[in-house]
Amino acid sequence: MLNIVLFGPPGAGKGTQSEKILKKYNLVHLATGDLFRLHLNNETQLGLEAKKYMNKGDLVPDEIVISMVEDKINKSSNVIGFIFDGFPRTINQAVALDNMLEKKNIPIKQMIALKVEENELIKRIINRSKTSGREDDKSIDKINNRIQVYNQETKPVADYYKKHDKYSEVDGIGVIDEIFLKLCSKIDELT
Ligand code: AMP
Repeated sequence: MLNIVLFGPPGAGKGTQSEKILKKYNLVHLATGDLFRLHLNNETQLGLEAKKYMNKGDLVPDEIVISMVEDKINKSSNVIGFIFDGFPRTINQAVALDNMLEKKNIPIKQMIALKVEENELIKRIINRSKTSGREDDKSIDKINNRIQVYNQETKPVADYYKKHDKYSEVDGIGVIDEIFLKLCSKIDELT
């Protein structure tokens, strides 16, 4: 199993690069933000609950995220591997993911972090807001809040993977295809 966590702050390019990686390596994309937006569009109970947090740029509570991910993993069959995008975002989520995957004997191979500095993130999200239709891309306050939440709650997740010797990073600035090649060489080392 090739299970990878693609990590980085909002606007680092996780979604863009995940799309390219999953096509090349035949992986299943497990993007919690996308799953929540789907629920939100379908106005499900889960979507309505998640919306309260998402629209402010806050994290959805762990228990909601974890059960949604567990459900998705359990419903996926004949999978070569998962690419986790936007998950785990807290230490609790990282521990829960390890427990879920341990039960199935399909551990995370590696976290790969995209490194992008804050000014560039803000520029990218403002640019994305012109087409994304995302409420949380719309105001500078919401964008700043998401970056702050990342720094406070999500960054420590990288240390968790470092401690388990499963961490690497790639410079996320530059041309999309060049960043993709750098990611591929990291992934190829794992297979
Ligand atoms: P994203 O598309 O990854 O930027 O996620 C959009 C929003 O969905 C986040 O700002 C959170 O409100 C929520 N969200 C997505 N993934 C998670 C997660 N793993 N834990 C908590 N909230 C999440």
